[in-house]
Amino acid sequence: MSQPAKICSFALSLPVYHLFDYELLEGAKAIPGMRFKLPFGRGQKMGVLVACQEQPISQHKNIKAVLTKLDEEPLLSSHLMQLACWLADYYCQPLGEVLFQFLPGKARKVEPLTETRVQIWTANPIEDEILMSIRRKAPRQYDVLLALKQSANGLNAAELRQIHEAWHQPVKILQSRGLVERTYRENLSFSKVNLQPGFKLTENQQKICSQMSLLTEQFLVHLLQGVTGSGKTEVYLELMLQVIQQGKQVIYLVPEIGLTPQLLERLQSRLGQGVVSSHSALTDLQRYQSWDQFKRGIAQVIIGTRSALFSESQNLGLIIIDEEHDASFRQQDGIRYHARDVAIKRAQMLDIPVVLGSATPSLESLHNLSKPHYRLYRLDTRVNNSKPPTIELLDCSQVPLNTGCSPQLLKAIKQHLNAQGQVLLYLNRRGFAPVVMCHECGWQSSCYQCDARMTLHQSVNKLICHHCGFSVMVPHKCPDCGVKEIRHYGVGTQQLEEFLKLQFPTVEVIRIDRDSVKSSKHFELKMKPVREGNPCILVGTQMLAKGHDYPHITLVGLLDSDQALYSSFYRASERLVQTVLQVSGRAGRAEKKGQALLQTAFPSHPLMLNLCHQSYSELVTGILQEREMVRFPPYARVVTFQVDAVELALAMQKLDQLKQILTELNTASPVKIIGPMPALMTRRIGRFRAQLSILSDNTQAIRQILQQLMPKIQGIRNTAKSRLTIDVDPLDL
Ligand code: ADP
Ligand code: ZN
Ligand code: ZN
Repeated sequence: MSQPAKICSFALSLPVYHLFDYELLEGAKAIPGMRFKLPFGRGQKMGVLVACQEQPISQHKNIKAVLTKLDEEPLLSSHLMQLACWLADYYCQPLGEVLFQFLPGKARKVEPLTETRVQIWTANPIEDEILMSIRRKAPRQYDVLLALKQSANGLNAAELRQIHEAWHQPVKILQSRGLVERTYRENLSFSKVNLQPGFKLTENQQKICSQMSLLTEQFLVHLLQGVTGSGKTEVYLELMLQVIQQGKQVIYLVPEIGLTPQLLERLQSRLGQGVVSSHSALTDLQRYQSWDQFKRGIAQVIIGTRSALFSESQNLGLIIIDEEHDASFRQQDGIRYHARDVAIKRAQMLDIPVVLGSATPSLESLHNLSKPHYRLYRLDTRVNNSKPPTIELLDCSQVPLNTGCSPQLLKAIKQHLNAQGQVLLYLNRRGFAPVVMCHECGWQSSCYQCDARMTLHQSVNKLICHHCGFSVMVPHKCPDCGVKEIRHYGVGTQQLEEFLKLQFPTVEVIRIDRDSVKSSKHFELKMKPVREGNPCILVGTQMLAKGHDYPHITLVGLLDSDQALYSSFYRASERLVQTVLQVSGRAGRAEKKGQALLQTAFPSHPLMLNLCHQSYSELVTGILQEREMVRFPPYARVVTFQVDAVELALAMQKLDQLKQILTELNTASPVKIIGPMPALMTRRIGRFRAQLSILSDNTQAIRQILQQLMPKIQGIRNTAKSRLTIDVDPLDL
């Protein structure tokens, strides 16, 4: 009889769907969610324990033993492990990769975690006699002890080093004798806050808060639809205060926070020190600190982007998702998931509420309102009663544009500047010009790795591909025919900025895009004139569309929105409506009435006309009706399989193989199979991409087919030559 062995299954960060088994030494404590160091190939890897079972050892002759345990306690609670398993299953993503997303960067390494608190040493009371004896026998210990005795709050490592370069040894001895004690102090990212009382809520805000707060003890999705500036954030703050008072924690997700420290300050000034943040502008250590403080309950609120959703919490009471329609909640690379939808699942598992807020809620959320656990609340007026601007069309079908601007737009800019107003021009294209071309032979600035044209960035005299980052110097003459004159076409934000500087030399022109803004400090600095209220022009990409509050802007101009009218992206009209309303909502927030001008060459297009006289609710009702007619999301579910390979033929072949399996599974034909076909941008970063989608208004049928498919696709998945990615509920088809 062979002895039973403890066999543990681990999830490793690898693009595979199976777990890896290792043997655990007898007696070792092993709880799912703990990290272990494991032998793997010739090296080592970190694995998260998923399950353990006793098995006769004879069955596992070749099984390797675990190297060491990295954590004494599980890093991920059973709740988060369950959520990760759900995510991996629902989105068809490898569990190991999902679990890695759940861990802070520091915990993805094959190392134990370090202490985030600051170590502090203090002196215990000591008899004079002993002190004198130390003074005689061990002068270094004496120096350290004296310094510790003199400081009421103890000393940290840096301070002890000031006393003695080699402080470790004497402190260690003193500690072993019980004369010195080590304690910890929280390393808070900010030391002091001036707590400020909130506004007196308006009647409407008050009503919504009390309706929502009656329901904090159960799973519900509260959709708060409120125009920009209607006071949604104040409602969140009130709810957070209530939840904190009940001793619970809050996760608050926003699309972007690195650039808007004001929001964090606003939260801290109302809620106190227990607010931490997590986003990509922080270092790994800072993010880990936030994660750790939230996990231990030192912080009550964590505000952050997408992945802050995976923060461990002892006692989560509420999840808030601001600007819930924003596409950044959908992760498009690595593991693919929608943070809003996962948040709703997490809340359901914990039986707690979720608040989704937006001026322009997603069609999915509006559609979901028919479900029993959804509630709608509306804030239709701004707090200061200023009216969001109505949108006017500028017909530019018959007039020549000057650097993207029609004469009417230039006239309006002038008028607003003269009236001491500020102007925001929205152009979602960075760089100087999107195309560089030879007039003689038709040569274009194509990227050699992508099916895309490289954008002219004149400030650095380079052509840059926005898809892969590849860049070359701008050629002096046509690389194909040698002609000297090569021209650029189209307008990007850099060109618009230069043009406006010439047109309006007396005011400041501020460009906000990924090339011009590198950090939040830089952003703050650039936005200073805007906050001060002086007449100025802001030019920017979607970076400007998100939640910033600039009360002195009176004119918003939208350039180049027409692309949405002939885009193949099925969400193009939804996106256009959301962008136009979000961007125009930046105007007229204070006492000055705002104006929003939408330049278009298609002023009689129904969507353009509707934008001028319909509310968001009316606009989306129309779009939802169209979607329902063609049975597209949210009335149907989509799964897209994409293969990128070294050759297009290989990508297509892999998908043909997949299609065959799918067709066999789809005997009753409840799902529609579309493709395979080359992706819209077939070549990207040197790889060829093809895709196949399944679509159905029968959710159950999609789930079933995926469940049957997953065990069968191991053979199709990843080799060096081709890689399959699965996208459940993708934003695009
Ligand atoms: P939203 O999140 O809907 O854009 P905010 O909560 O940021 O709106 O509120 C917009 C502005 O109105 C902010 O400057 C905020 O300080 C102010 N505000 C919000 N609620 C009130 C209130 N009840 N009384 C006075 N001012 C308020
Ligand atoms: Zn040429
Ligand atoms: Zn490229």
